Amino acid sequence: MDHAATTPVAPEVLEAMNPYFSEKFGNSASLHYFGREAENALEDARRYIAKFFGVKPEEIFFTSGGTEADNLALKGIASAFGKGHIITSQIEHHAILHTAKWLENHGFDVTYLPVDKYGFVNPEDVEKTIRKDTILVSIMHANNEIGTIEPIEEIGKICRKYGVYFHTDAVQTVGKIPIPTKNIDLLSSSAHKLYGPKGVGLLYIKNGVKIEPIQHGGGHERGMRSGTENVAGIVGFAKAIELAKKHMDKEAKRLSALRDELIKETLKIGDSWLNGHPTKRLPGNAHFGFKFIEGEALILLLDEMGIAASTGSACSSKSLKPSHVLTAIGLKPEEAHGSLRLTLGKDNNEEDIKYAADAIQDVVEKLRKISPFKK
Ligand code: PLP
Repeated sequence: MDHAATTPVAPEVLEAMNPYFSEKFGNSASLHYFGREAENALEDARRYIAKFFGVKPEEIFFTSGGTEADNLALKGIASAFGKGHIITSQIEHHAILHTAKWLENHGFDVTYLPVDKYGFVNPEDVEKTIRKDTILVSIMHANNEIGTIEPIEEIGKICRKYGVYFHTDAVQTVGKIPIPTKNIDLLSSSAHKLYGPKGVGLLYIKNGVKIEPIQHGGGHERGMRSGTENVAGIVGFAKAIELAKKHMDKEAKRLSALRDELIKETLKIGDSWLNGHPTKRLPGNAHFGFKFIEGEALILLLDEMGIAASTGSACSSKSLKPSHVLTAIGLKPEEAHGSLRLTLGKDNNEEDIKYAADAIQDVVEKLRKISPFKK
């Protein structure tokens, strides 16, 4: 129940990738037969993925994952403009926040918009914050910790109105919910969140966007991202998207029902609450707060019972600092520490939900009995 951290590679994806490790091992830049074979696979994947997003194949740039796509979006635009103002939110993934911080250290001005108690960015705040020198707005499609789905259509419209580029980190939403690409100029995605392999992602860059590469070399990906393409990974990414497209609507409904059942059962525990919005959240995401306990202890006891869960994002789960997302929605540090994220995926079923809900109840009771905070 930690599918927001990563997902298993689907058997069909593995099967599609397999030949590209051995018999079809060519470098897509080579002119000979093996190179052409790899290039054909690469371009087929690019065409397929572009069609899925409703964009042009030449607007898809493959990267090593979501982190690199986010870095390329922010640093690439910043580099093309040389100076200016960037707007993002306080609840972005660290791939955005740490990149923005780095840009601040290199002379750019960054505004980190606050969010409300559900984690929503207010589009009006975006509009009020846009300045003459604003070069980019970057707001995630859905938050990886609390699952809140941001109003990116409205934000995109505002950016378009002011002629400011709009980037969205859609790492948690591609293949899970529809992506409204209409007013988006740049979009990050990563294969391993949708039953594809780790280490492959993409940045969609709308034709005409002023951006410079941040990685230089042999000129792959039309000069935007040098480095021999991960052909097997990219073929797997396309297959993962094909599977997601086929099952998306049905799976979103199924996961939402399981999620709601889990939320209903878990909130029967006293002094507990749901983080994020009750309905405008990712289909598989349930994120709870419990008074008087430590999330880490909860995770370890659940792990002993065979349940893989998380306190927040996988990247920050080894740090003892309260999550920046939970503090941004207004939780006190002690409230943020008692949190639990369960993210459901294709192999979870009703039986798992029942088992998890019972287990959480047992473990919370057990921990509260020994809690020094509970009188
Ligand atoms: N952005 C979001 C919202 C994420 O959830 C993640 C992964 O946790 C990333 C970016 C980073 O993606 P990757 O693991 O492919 O580098």
